Amino acid sequence: MLSPRLNVTERTRKRLFIGLLSFSLLILILALLASIWLLRQKSLLLNRIILIILISCVTAAFFTLSAGLLALIWSLWRSKTYPSLQNIMAAATKFLFPFALHLGKWLGWDEEKIKNSYIQVSNQLVKAKTKTYPVKKVLLLAPHCLQWSGCSHKITMDVRNCQGCGKCPVIKLRELAGRYDADLAIATGGTFARKFIKDKRPDAVVAIACERDLTSGIQDIVRIPVMGVVNERPHGPCANTSVDLEKVEEAIKYFINGG
Ligand code: SF4
Repeated sequence: MLSPRLNVTERTRKRLFIGLLSFSLLILILALLASIWLLRQKSLLLNRIILIILISCVTAAFFTLSAGLLALIWSLWRSKTYPSLQNIMAAATKFLFPFALHLGKWLGWDEEKIKNSYIQVSNQLVKAKTKTYPVKKVLLLAPHCLQWSGCSHKITMDVRNCQGCGKCPVIKLRELAGRYDADLAIATGGTFARKFIKDKRPDAVVAIACERDLTSGIQDIVRIPVMGVVNERPHGPCANTSVDLEKVEEAIKYFINGG
């Protein structure tokens, strides 16, 4: 159970992402208005034809993205899924996310915070989507940087090579995976992560990683629901990282129990 304080933080994170998406859409509207203004100017026939084509494209994009964004906000607000709107929501998120990211950076916001916000939104959409069907096979995908840097056991080859000394969270993750009959894989990068998914063919994935890897991973994996848990980096990035095991368990339970 999340504490009320954490809930407030997560709500703020989601608002940041939705705010940036909406602002990106506003910029598109301004571009549309500028085109209309240009069209009203006395100009050559060719200019008018180009403008008409441009306006048609921008208008179509605008309506598609608006519908996707509105569906996304509605879905998040109601915590409900609308299967017929999934594609349009995914398209709006995918298309507007790079704009939102650049806009946020331009406004001086931290890139990690924006990506974290995206992960929270994506998680909530996944929760809403998977509420309706039970998931049998979960793959718990963890990054290699969770392993204690002094450990010599090759856990990326086979996580059973972990000797359970307790110096890093790998043994706890192994226990957790065992408890819920989930597969656990330790990946050294995106290529290996994709390979594990292809080999294990899970119904759902709980992925632990930094904001950057999770964001690209979530966008990469389209057919399987992915719940992201951001890792903790008390010693800096990519070495001796950690993870909140409660959040990992909560994500696995969500898939298995359907909420
Ligand atoms: S818990 Fe396992 S992976 Fe972590 S340091 Fe100990 S033996 Fe190595």
